Amino acid sequence: MKLVLLGVSGAGKGTQSKNIIKRYNLGHISTGDILRRHIRDGTAIGLKIQDGMDAGQLVDDELMIDIVKDVVTRPEFENGYILDGFPRTLAQAQIFDEFERIDLAVYVQVDDKVVIERLTGRWVCDCCAQMYHINSFPPKAPGICDECGCRLIQREDDKAETVKDRLRIFHELTDSVISYYKELGVLFTVSGEGDADTITNTIIQKLDTLV
Ligand code: AMP
Repeated sequence: MKLVLLGVSGAGKGTQSKNIIKRYNLGHISTGDILRRHIRDGTAIGLKIQDGMDAGQLVDDELMIDIVKDVVTRPEFENGYILDGFPRTLAQAQIFDEFERIDLAVYVQVDDKVVIERLTGRWVCDCCAQMYHINSFPPKAPGICDECGCRLIQREDDKAETVKDRLRIFHELTDSVISYYKELGVLFTVSGEGDADTITNTIIQKLDTLV
């Protein structure tokens, strides 16, 4: 099963991915994680994209296509995958369609105000990328990861102004991706504002019709 997961950062795509990959034994491909790894490792790609990413801008389509083309053909994703964070522009969706046929695009829809509250309270482990939230999922000890004991940081791209910019970019560019998949007849929209398990169950009910 090949799935695309759409939704602005903070819609809860990460949580939904985790639940779905477990059930269907899929791989998880997060383009944001891949890019952040490049930055952390100081690769040529990382150096090129760091400033733009910190400012909440999108990485250019050509580079994103190269990265995704390389990843989806890896043997570990033979059984299928969830692609989280890609495509984000109409051009990415159209070019992707030329080399991969997805089974479903799941759009996790959340009101902009809810996204701002969620993201600006988000902290992430500097080592294992485990997420926390100051209100809804605080760590046991402030500033320390429950899983591995490393320090928690606020991502540059989770700061308030950046989040607002990202929402604007999402509506300007990614709304057209949603319309594109709708026209292709492969779009499934689910509200991302309820309880995470209920949202997972709604998605699973749909995915079970595809297997
Ligand atoms: P995410 O973790 O999905 O929110 O991605 C974090 C950042 O990575 C985004 O704000 C973009 O700068 C960059 N990024 C991730 N995926 C893409 C993509 N498909 N196209 C362009 N930029 C991306």
